[in-house]
This record gives sequence, structure tokens and C-alpha cells, in this order.
Amino acid sequence: MPPPPPLLLLAVLVAAAARPGCEFDGSLAGECHRPPAADSATCVDLQLRTCSDAAYNHTTFPTPLQHRSREAVETSSEYILLSVLHQLLEGQCNPDLRLLGCAVLAPRCEGGRVRRPCRHVCEGLREACQPAFDAIDMAWPYFLDCHRYFKREDEGCYDPLEKLRGGLEADEVLPSGLPPTFIRFSHHSYAQMARVLRRTAARCAHVARTYSIGRSFDGRDLLVIEFSSRPGQHELMEPEVKLIGNIHGNEVAGREMLIYLTQYLCSEYLLGNPRIQRLLNTTRIHLLPSMNPDGYEVAAAEGAGYNGWTSGRQNAQNLDLNRNFPDLTSEYYRLAGTRSVRSDHIPIPEHYWWGKVAPETKAIMKWMQTIPFVLSASLHGGDLVVSYPFDFSKHPQEEKMFSPTPDEKTFKLLSRAYAEVHPMMMDRSENRCGGNFLKRGSIINGADWYSFTGGMSDFNYLHTNCFEITVELGCVKFPPEEALYTIWQHNKESLLNFVETVHRGIKGVVMDKYGKPVKNARILVKGIRHDITTAPDGDYWRLLPPGTHIVIAQAPGYARLIKKVIIPARMKRAGRVDFILQPLGVGPKNFLPGLRRTGPHDPLGGASPLGEGTEPNPDPLRARRQPSAGGSKPWWWSYFTSLSAHRPRWLLKY
Ligand SMILES: [Zn+2]
Repeated sequence: MPPPPPLLLLAVLVAAAARPGCEFDGSLAGECHRPPAADSATCVDLQLRTCSDAAYNHTTFPTPLQHRSREAVETSSEYILLSVLHQLLEGQCNPDLRLLGCAVLAPRCEGGRVRRPCRHVCEGLREACQPAFDAIDMAWPYFLDCHRYFKREDEGCYDPLEKLRGGLEADEVLPSGLPPTFIRFSHHSYAQMARVLRRTAARCAHVARTYSIGRSFDGRDLLVIEFSSRPGQHELMEPEVKLIGNIHGNEVAGREMLIYLTQYLCSEYLLGNPRIQRLLNTTRIHLLPSMNPDGYEVAAAEGAGYNGWTSGRQNAQNLDLNRNFPDLTSEYYRLAGTRSVRSDHIPIPEHYWWGKVAPETKAIMKWMQTIPFVLSASLHGGDLVVSYPFDFSKHPQEEKMFSPTPDEKTFKLLSRAYAEVHPMMMDRSENRCGGNFLKRGSIINGADWYSFTGGMSDFNYLHTNCFEITVELGCVKFPPEEALYTIWQHNKESLLNFVETVHRGIKGVVMDKYGKPVKNARILVKGIRHDITTAPDGDYWRLLPPGTHIVIAQAPGYARLIKKVIIPARMKRAGRVDFILQPLGVGPKNFLPGLRRTGPHDPLGGASPLGEGTEPNPDPLRARRQPSAGGSKPWWWSYFTSLSAHRPRWLLKY
């Protein structure tokens, strides 16, 4: 709770309360609604948490809703509504609508005068956001009545969303005649990026949604857009892919590529592009355009062309996020020499938590616990090449040393899927950007390029089932705006082709003889010392190169089951290989000793249920869309009645 206002403020409030103001308006459940007649006022500090990011910092009492103190505002159902609007509308129309509400609940006060928000802003939002309210069966809030609490431009109104627009209002208004799916090949500020993601998710609501995996050090949401035939849910045997941009804040092309990809996937899906429809119907794709939005701000302040090699690379704590993950590769090299000890799914060593762990890093690790990712790419800039694990050299003194994983062949296949359809990576001229990788087909083992520890890709491979590659998109880390369209043209096919490789190899379900899924069963492939484990539904995905493989499924208490699998060279759909395990009569003798799964200390708070709970803070509204027990009231009603003495009957449609 915020601290109580100082005595001086209370005195102001008492004085304000003595003013003439309210007359009863019988139409609306007892609230007092008549806006004060005069615009002159006493300005006080704006201290409302929900409105702390408004474009102004002074307000006044009484408010247009006749609240006469901060406490009165904070306990009102109008304020509670604004505080939970984001969750209620699942991110749609926010923070826009919240800031619009703040402009009424805590009016802007400047130089002893109250300023009113603009009617046209209100009307625009009402048009865009009414469907979101309809979707949850909620009436448009009375205090967002555009004709009552807002003013026209010629009456001297202000735009309550000016901070969000960042002075780029024109950017949001598309020239008439262009389809709403038009992609603007420009750099995107944080607010613009968030808006594109949310608008795209709203436009493609049946196959997309946005969610946050946590916040950056400076408090920016790490926003993800997800594409799937059933957004928000893991489907049995549907593989999950993630693409991450801007882990280094000054390497910005990846951020833009993912913003464009977001719009491309949505529009092509709607236009009926069969390839994109097939992809979204068979794959769950998560795009995180900016893993380091704070670093981006530093780099963007310098701008394209002026950005130094490292300005903005780190997060706001000065941590390089791609050096901040637990070093499991050293542990791997130690374990790899011991037979019959597993060297996959290595736990995070406890001493890792004694060091500085960035919130961005933590958010990614928690995300990886929550979703059974199969494939991933991290998009960088500064060179033109695809690199793959290990990034940390097997000899600590060797800065450049070929250090393959047991899945070398698969990683090469994944990297080539990106590089071989990229016209610049396939360009034969040696003096081009990345020309020194030409002879290797523009792919390289990370440690063979340069060795480093604490990278994200090694962590993906050694801690989870996910295979991650690193893509360097070009030699300029912060390209000028006019180069962005060409970069997109060069990478579009690569991105799609890469995501499609998640359907290589085999997948299936491991169950017992009663058909019950066996979670955490191990899928072993002979000759590749790296096991994959089944997800909670018993499903698994094993990326594999073409050829003949001996595959074994194994779980404690069951007899191991061996199958021979042949993957033809051109097969582009994962072959389905299910395993039905028979119980062992005499206990889990047949099971190799495993590593300790979770330490006594789990700072990530353990895994959330699959495909849910990806937002960092669970809250009462998460149980949404459950019919309320009390009869015909909408599901959200009980939340308001439990928190406020004033029942917001104005939110009910009937
Ligand atoms: Zn980088």
C-alpha cells in the first residue's frame, strides 16, 4: 500500500472537499457524476500507483467523479477496474484504456487549472475496444463516456496517450487504402512494439495472444506473442518453438525481424496462405522480439549509425545477458567422462544463485520451465553467420576449439535450414559481410568461432529438451531504417524454414498399458548421448537427422522399450513413434541413475502448469471464464464485490 498523504495534503483535501460539486445523478447507482463547472483548481502530486505512468504528475480534488481524496479514489470500484483492466481484457487495449481512465479519475492539473482529455482519443479507443468489453460481457464504463468527461480540441483538450505515442502519432495512422496488416519497415520504440504485438494478437485473436514472461530490470514487460491454433494451451504432440530477439540491446535487427514476422504470420494466415496456415495449425510459435528492452533504449538514444559497438549491449544492471546463464557446459565436460551418468538435463548449481542473476535471465529460465520447447533461435547482429552449441570450448584455455554436442549432426541440419535459404549467407563473394564463414557454408560451431561461458544456447541444450541456434543477422548492429526492408527480405524465408524444422525427426507419446501418459520418461537414441524427456502429457519430440536410429523409451518402474526407426532423407513431417511401457515386476532396476532434478533451493519457484501461468504474477482474475456460482452474473463480478463496498452495477449489461 502507498504511504498516507502528508498532513499538508490532507489540509488541501479538506479545503477541496468543502467546495460545491456534486449533485445526485439518479441514473447511475448512486454515484455523483456532474463534472465540476470551473476548471480552476489546486494542483497536488499525482500519487496513484495505477496512474503513475501518466504523461503528467499533478492532479486535483475533487475529481470529475467527485472523489475528494486519494483514498476515495483508491477504494472506488472505478479505480479497481483500471487496476485490473489489463488482466480482464487479456492485454487488449492496454495501457491505452487505463491511461484514458486515469485522465478522468485523476485529472491533469497544471498551473492551477484542470485540463481535460480529448474526446477524439476517447472515441477512437471506444471504437477499438468495445469488442474486448463485449467479449467479457461487460458494459462500457460510464466514466469513459466520451461526451461527458472529455473535451473537443477547440476547447483546449490534451491527448492522455501522448507519452505512449512518443511523438509519433502519424506512425499509427495508416494511409487510407492500405490493408490493416500493412507492415511498416521502421524501427519500433518499446510502446510501438507493444502496440504492434497487441494489435496483431487482437486481429488474429483466434490464433494469437500476447503475454509477458516477466519484467526487465527497469520494469518493462518482456512481451511475447504466441501463434497457435489454440492460443494459451499446449496441445498433445504439437511442438513448441521460440524465437528471441535483441538479447543484446544494441543488436536490433532481430527485434525488428520478429515484429515484422508477427504481422506477416497474422496477415498471411488471414489471407489463407496454405503454408502459414499449416504451420500455425501444427506448431505453437512464441516470439519474444526484445529480451533486453532496457539496453535497446540506451542504443536507440544514440540511434542508427552512431551506435558504438557495445552501447546498450548489456541490461540496465550492466550484465551481458548472453553470459548470465548458468555455466552447465563445464559441468557437462566433467560428467561426459563418466559412463552411465547422464549429461543432459543438468540441474542449475546452487552457487549460480549467489551471483548476480538478471531478471531477464530469470524470466527466460522460468519460461523454459513452463513450456516444453523443442526448438529455438536467438537473433543477434555484428556478423553474418549461424552458430550452434557448444559455445564454451571443451578446453578452458582454448579460445577457439571445435566443441561439438552429441547432436552435432542435428545442429548442423538446423543451422543449414537457416543459412541455405539466406541469399547473403549463400553469396559466394569473400569480401562480403561474414565472408570468412563462406567455406563453412555460413554455419559454425560456437566455440570454434570464439569461446564464452554462460550463454543461453548451451543452457537450453544442457538443462532442457530445447535445441537453440544463434543467428548473426548482419555486420551492422543498429542498421539504418532504409536497410530494414532488405534485411527482412533476406531473413523471412530463413525464419520460416527454420521454424519448420521443428517437424524433423520423430515425436510421439509414452504411456503405460492403460493409456495413461508417462511424464519425464526418457527417450534415448543409440549413439547420441543426450536424452530427451517426455512432457507432462507424455508427449515428446526428438529432432534427428535422416538415417536409421535405434530409439529407446525408459521410465522408472517400467521395462525399457526399443524401436528401430528409419527417417528418409526428405521427410519433413516428424514420424510418429509411440511407446507403450510394461511395468517391471521388481521395481525400477532397469533405470540408469539420474541426476538430482531440483535442488533444495528453487529460486524460480518451480514449474507452472504447462501452457498456463506464463505470466509472472498469478492473481484472482486468472480463474477467468469460469461461470460464477451465484447465478447469471458474469464471472468477474464476484471479484469486484469482494474488493469494493461500492458494487459497480454500471459494469453489468443488464
Ligand atoms: Zn549479440
